[in-house]
Amino acid sequence: MGTLYTIGCKNCLKKDDFNIIGTENEKNEKINGTFFNIIFGVTRILNSVKGLEEKFYKNPRPESFMEKYNFASPTKDETIDNIIVENIKNGFKITENLGYDIYYCEKCKKLKNHFFIQMEKDKQYYTVEYFCKKCNTVLGLVENYLYRKENNIYKFSTKRNYIYRIFLENDTIRILDINKKEYEIICDNCNKNNFTVLKGGIVD
Ligand SMILES: [Zn+2]
Ligand SMILES: [Zn+2]
Repeated sequence: MGTLYTIGCKNCLKKDDFNIIGTENEKNEKINGTFFNIIFGVTRILNSVKGLEEKFYKNPRPESFMEKYNFASPTKDETIDNIIVENIKNGFKITENLGYDIYYCEKCKKLKNHFFIQMEKDKQYYTVEYFCKKCNTVLGLVENYLYRKENNIYKFSTKRNYIYRIFLENDTIRILDINKKEYEIICDNCNKNNFTVLKGGIVD
């Protein structure tokens, strides 16, 4: 099971907007203020290495809806899929270190959400790398500390190559790197850095 966070601008987004965000109407209604729907962790369909490998063995770009639902590539990126398929052919295996994660574009100052995949062959590792679709900057992984209460928040996990950490302080989002340098998320509407978690939930 994964977690869904809606992270949004505290200045701009109103209670009425929360009801629209995350529903089918989201794209039709005009919402003034930047928000991000972020899935974190694994969902039921994408939780097994075997299932994932099958997706790539079969057809990462299926046509029909049902096939898409069952077999569509979680990376949503044809270039990356081709590398993964090539790696599988060369004997690489997808490791258990996988799932949706938070990424950050330093140039656009925005959060992104992508599916992290690691592959291994004889202690050689391949890790998927995502680029910002707007500015083409390589995205950095963000360690999720949104609801963790731990003393040493500057000691990063070594599970993935995390560059940033996201956490809440007085209900406001902060992003720091390992050198405690602060990074901002900027709202397209008010140009301010004042974000919080608007809602959260479990995704199957
Ligand atoms: Zn960017
Ligand atoms: Zn705003």
